[in-house]
Amino acid sequence: MENFLSLNLPPALMETITRMQYSIPTPIQAQAIPPALEGRDILGSAQTGTGKTAAYAIPLVVKLMSNPRGSALILTPTRELATQVMSVLKQFLGSRSTVNTALLIGGESMGPQFQQLRNRPRLIIGTPGRINDHLERGTLMLHDASFLVLDETDRMLDMGFSSQLDQIAKFLPKTRQTLMFSATMPANILKISEKYLTNPVRIKVGEENAPAANVNLTHDIIHTDDANKYEVLMKELTAREGSIIVFVKTKRGADRLAVRLNKQKMSADAIHGDLKQSKRDRVIGNFRAQKYRILVATDVAARGLDIDHIKHVVNFDMPHAPEDYIHRIGRTARAGALGSAVSLISGEDRGKWRAIQRLINPGEPQAQEAHKPRPSNSKFNQRRRNFRPRNSGNAAAA
Ligand code: AMP
Repeated sequence: MENFLSLNLPPALMETITRMQYSIPTPIQAQAIPPALEGRDILGSAQTGTGKTAAYAIPLVVKLMSNPRGSALILTPTRELATQVMSVLKQFLGSRSTVNTALLIGGESMGPQFQQLRNRPRLIIGTPGRINDHLERGTLMLHDASFLVLDETDRMLDMGFSSQLDQIAKFLPKTRQTLMFSATMPANILKISEKYLTNPVRIKVGEENAPAANVNLTHDIIHTDDANKYEVLMKELTAREGSIIVFVKTKRGADRLAVRLNKQKMSADAIHGDLKQSKRDRVIGNFRAQKYRILVATDVAARGLDIDHIKHVVNFDMPHAPEDYIHRIGRTARAGALGSAVSLISGEDRGKWRAIQRLINPGEPQAQEAHKPRPSNSKFNQRRRNFRPRNSGNAAAA
């Protein structure tokens, strides 16, 4: 598949694709769209930033457009991703579409969701918890949902949604087409894929840990300790230009850090799972509009954010799960832009950092200590000199 024209898509959809200036399919689109249009199940390893949303959105929209009956369900781990995916799908459906939609995400009041459900939506996008809530209340019917997309499946499992997914599957027709995407493909994902997919076409785009291999992305580490961490962060924020996302481990930590940064004239806001949906939307909207420069976030809240102008990812606290590192750094160096990631490593983080390295460079001998230089072919050496730590407390050069 060299271009979208060869797919014989419905003219209205083709017009939209042209208007969106998608002329050349990305690798995941080139591999996934033709078999998906033939009705095959897909098991795809792909990060956000690879064009995977359109890879499932295009076949999904074709199916909805070519059949007056039947519905489609897209499950995502977070509310933000669900909202983002809905806006992409609405673009593909086009402004004249008669297909009704429902966005069913937690943290939002039920009233408007009931209203959307009364309109017999044929496209339902949501997070597993809220979808189950509606299924249990009987306000959502999925017996004709013959097209299922599981987006960021690894993350859904990380977030403990496995039994929620099983629960939802009970309401779906057995005969259906299922497209499952995941940034990583550990054994538990493969096992789940056997449960939900039938004879899937397996698609891999680049390495399974693609953002780590992204040549436009530099990684750096700075050794520090808890007492000096904030000072190191300030130096990094001052030295860098452009939008920055700073990851922290707790919701309170996110709020506190944003307040502290603002006091020091660093424009910042915080996002985490305790915020009301309307507030989250506002925080993200303002960041997208570059009304402030630094977004302080927890893992769950920032999952799947697609904002091209994020230049740097700072890991103020290291993530618990190594996979989260991959998701975090995938927020930058998107769509061919340059980006950098820097991790502040204090004593207890060394083990976490080693686990991250093992995930990103499997088979590559790992240094005993995280601050030892990587071999010259390591992904971690790319342009690292640009961000060599500057006398940060007891920092040792990465
Ligand atoms: P995703 O991986 O779905 O989050 O997409 C990443 C970005 O790539 C989004 O901003 C899309 O609009 C853009 N994109 C996806 N497919 C194409 C394409 N074929 N040509 C140009 N841009 C694309």
